[in-house]
Formats: sequence, C-alpha cells, structure tokens
Amino acid sequence: MLFNRYFFTVDDAIVVILDECIIWPAWPGDHEFCGPKLYTETDGHTPMSQYPDAQFLKSANARNQFVPDTGIEVAVAGRSNAGKSSAINVIVNRRQFARTSKTPGRTQLVNFFELREGQRLVDLPGYGFAQVSAAMRRHWGELLTAYFESRQSLAGLILIVDIRRRLTDFDRRMIAFAESVNLPIHILLTKADKLKKGQAASATLEVKRELGDRATVQQFSALKRQGEQEAREVLEGFLGARG
Ligand code: GDP
Repeated sequence: MLFNRYFFTVDDAIVVILDECIIWPAWPGDHEFCGPKLYTETDGHTPMSQYPDAQFLKSANARNQFVPDTGIEVAVAGRSNAGKSSAINVIVNRRQFARTSKTPGRTQLVNFFELREGQRLVDLPGYGFAQVSAAMRRHWGELLTAYFESRQSLAGLILIVDIRRRLTDFDRRMIAFAESVNLPIHILLTKADKLKKGQAASATLEVKRELGDRATVQQFSALKRQGEQEAREVLEGFLGARG
C-alpha cells in the first residue's frame, strides 16, 4: 500500500494534510483508490469534520419548544449508556460535540444540533429502565410521540444499541415510533470492540434476523472508530434523501 501525503495551508493557521492511499495493483490495471482523507495538524490522525460549523441549537421538553420544522433532520436515539454521545462525536468528528446532551437536566430532553444550514441532528432522550420512575417514562413516551408525529423534516432514525445487550425493550419502542411514521431506521451496534469478532458477528446476525428489512444494521465502535464512514454515509443519505 502506498501513501501520498500533501500539505496545504488554510487561513495561515491550519495545516491540512491530504492523504491518499493506493492499494498497489495485484494485477496490471487492477488498483483501488481509497482516499483522500483530510487531517488537521492538531493530532495528525483525526480526519477533519465534515461538519465544521456544527453547533448546539436548543433543548426541548415539549412540542412547543421544538425548533421550527423546516429543512431536514435526522434523529439519534439510544438507551442511556449505550454509547450514543460517543457515537455522535465520532460521526460528527468533533470531540465533545454531544457533551451538551450529557449535561445534567438535558439527558431527558430533545436536543437539537445544526450540522449545516437547514440540516439538523436531533439527540433524543434515552433511559435505562432501572433508572427512571413510571412518571418519567410516561413523560418520555408523550414527548417522543409529539416529536415523531409532528416533525415533517424528520428523514431517518439512527438507533444506538450496545452490541452486548442486543435489542432491548427501549430499542423496540424506538423502532415502533419510527415505523409509525414510516421512517427509515439504521442501527449502530456499538462497542463492537468489547466482543470477539465471532461474537460480534453472531450478535449482528441475531439483530438482523429479528428485524429483517425493517432496519439496516452495522457494527460500530467509537473507541476504535470502526464503522464511522459507513455511519456517516447513512447520515448523509438520510439528510440528502429530501434535500
Ligand atoms: P450515552 O449515555 O449513550 O451517551 O453513552 P456514552 O457515549 O456516554 O458512553 C457510555 C460509556 O460507554 C462511556 O464510558 C464510554 O466511554 C463507553 N463507550 C462508548 N462507546 C464505546 C465504544 O465504542 N467502545 C467502548 N469500549 N466503550 C464505549
């Protein structure tokens, strides 16, 4: 494999390194091009964000607090501790991006982020069944019903699932919400690094078998940055579907 590395200076301040990797041809004429990737000088390894201007917009606890329903948005959901914030940070490629969603008081809110003008990522509240009261679960159900039923701009759901737990009742409820409004669903089976390859493959198969063509499924690891490109392509596909 060959690596060609080019350096550019942008705004005097940032050095951008453009990496191209070329798989050396096994046969004449048979070669694969697998770049380019952009890297910032800061750490030399992290590709630059495709969403450099992404920003937190607002948290909402009721339908009348949602941001205006214009443009296009993709919802991300996951049972608490499934790895949703870590996955969002990797996909958006901004360290600490989803930190807002973790601040006390915001974990149970609908958090709106702007990715680009007219394109949003919406971090939906998650919980573990042991952690919340029946009253909180009821409020969560009402808030999510209001969200899914009202958003014309909503184009897809990315559901974050801990691969070791497979689908939980929380996930099945999220899938039902999405299906009630005919949304495409993509599942990230995250923390894949915590399982051996064979175990991860059988967990993936199990989830795929349960859902059939109701959702697309991929393995993911925020720690190893496994599956980030595939996840980003799905996000871009959802955002572009009605763009
Ligand atoms: P959230 O509550 O769903 O937003 O979950 P977080 O993103 O905060 O992650 C919960 C815990 O799981 C944290 O300790 C993370 O460091 C850890 N975690 C998240 N993603 C991964 C992953 O892909 N691999 C491993 N090994 N740990 C992860």
